[in-house]
Amino acid sequence: MATTTEGFGGGPMHRDRARTFDSTSPATGEVVASFPLAGPEEVAAAVALAGQAAAEWAELGFEGRRRALLAYKALLVRRADELIALVHRENGKPRADALIEVLMIVEHLDWAARNAARVLGRRRVRSTLVLANHAASVEYQPLGVVGVIGPWNYPVFTPLGSIAYALAAGNAVVFKPSELTPAVGCFLADTFADAVGGPPVFQVVTGDGTTGQALCLAGVDKVAFTGSPATGRKVMAACAERLTPVVLELGGKDAMVVDADADVDAAAEQALWGGMANAGQTCLAVERVYVVDQVYDRFLARLVERASRIRPGGGPDADFGPITLPRQLEIIQRHLDDAFARGARALVGGRDAVRPPYVDPVVLVDVPADALVMQQETFGPVLPVIRARDAGHAVALANANPYGLGAAVFAGRRGDPIARALRSGMASINSVLTYAGVPSLPLGGVGESGFGRIHGPDGLREFTRPKAITRQRFALPFGMQSFDRPRFVLPAVQQAMKLRHGRRPGPRRR
Ligand code: NDP
Repeated sequence: MATTTEGFGGGPMHRDRARTFDSTSPATGEVVASFPLAGPEEVAAAVALAGQAAAEWAELGFEGRRRALLAYKALLVRRADELIALVHRENGKPRADALIEVLMIVEHLDWAARNAARVLGRRRVRSTLVLANHAASVEYQPLGVVGVIGPWNYPVFTPLGSIAYALAAGNAVVFKPSELTPAVGCFLADTFADAVGGPPVFQVVTGDGTTGQALCLAGVDKVAFTGSPATGRKVMAACAERLTPVVLELGGKDAMVVDADADVDAAAEQALWGGMANAGQTCLAVERVYVVDQVYDRFLARLVERASRIRPGGGPDADFGPITLPRQLEIIQRHLDDAFARGARALVGGRDAVRPPYVDPVVLVDVPADALVMQQETFGPVLPVIRARDAGHAVALANANPYGLGAAVFAGRRGDPIARALRSGMASINSVLTYAGVPSLPLGGVGESGFGRIHGPDGLREFTRPKAITRQRFALPFGMQSFDRPRFVLPAVQQAMKLRHGRRPGPRRR
């Protein structure tokens, strides 16, 4: 795997530098490729180049960028087999999980390219009676250079979820992929360069956390960070130095609620997939399941039966792959040990489920609410199932958590009110994670899960600044904004204000 050394792909990074690092396959330990560890100088040079490129990219206008991004999308699709194989090698996930990433991001690229003009373009807005002689308009202008810092668990979907929208909005991007998945990051930028040509509007800087920190301090116009809450805090602190704005897409501890009139079989199937696909290494993974008393036993029986049939593996067609980040294995083990010490029982898997680099499926019951596995992100194929008195109780239990990213509800009649009552940025009814695949919906969290939104119109606006303009269409004989205004103007204006706004509110006019 090669990164380009100039232009779009690698920007100003030098391959012959002594400071390099290897990316390896988590399943086999084989070295995928070696990459430069970019320091503050290289990062600053990439940001400077991006600054020049951003001006040209903005000049292209919505139509030019639409065509460029659709060409990029088409090339990614044509090279999808290569990309999927690379994700499998470097991240460890099976082909099916990698394909889902590519499939979803292609839809987002398409939507961002086609909708940027409608969402961000200049439009007239209404003025007021007092300023009726002024026309008013608003447009959303690009920020300039956006620094994107991404995680390893969805090395295609997650960074491009910011990059596609930032580019469509007219910004240049400097992307720092996780040190675990730099080859995938470079593939994304290299493919862009092949499809679009021109100045380096999408560059990659490879490295570790210090490279990410350098990007936060490099004078970019915004940082889009996806990762853990702990690193999110460091990113925000670093960005505070230059008042660089941030959007933080952080971890989750997503809950699923299963109500009495749910399709229990479908709920069990989706809980299992939502909790264990990608080995549970999904920010939006189902990490807690609250099932109402009436269907608890039935749900559990179906879940246990299904969970007993799946296995992790290193092959391209495994049910799910290895744990990508070696450190995560210790966290999963700690969560399991803590749960068992507090009286939890495993109906599938157990204490010995952690077999580096794999973790076997685990279904837990009798887990107290203060157990680590109920409070913190486990990021493994571990599903605690909790009995709730009714849907209201389930929602209260689900909401008693500092995270608030996504959520799922399986229910008949009450699906909608339950989904709305859950404290989360997104919720899906009778499915899991589907909101992430709908490009016109915003994605983001509350509390420990971060703030700001990617995807959809909000995701486009996240990478812009609104520009408000008024234009005087004709002059009034007497205006307020003059030291020479006649004496009668103020009382007349005050009287007009009273007539227009001083009445008590009546019934709403239709
Ligand atoms: P980390 O927070 O460890 O790292 C995220 C990125 O930040 C990596 O590129 C990392 O580099 C970089 N980084 C590390 N230290 C710093 C620093 N001081 N300043 C700037 N950047 C830094 O997260 P993971 O990569 O382990 O990803 C998993 C986390 O991401 C989970 O919590 C998951 O829930 C969350 N996530 C959230 C999503 C969402 O949409 N809300 C989507 C996907 C994941 P390096 O890897 O080289 O250390």
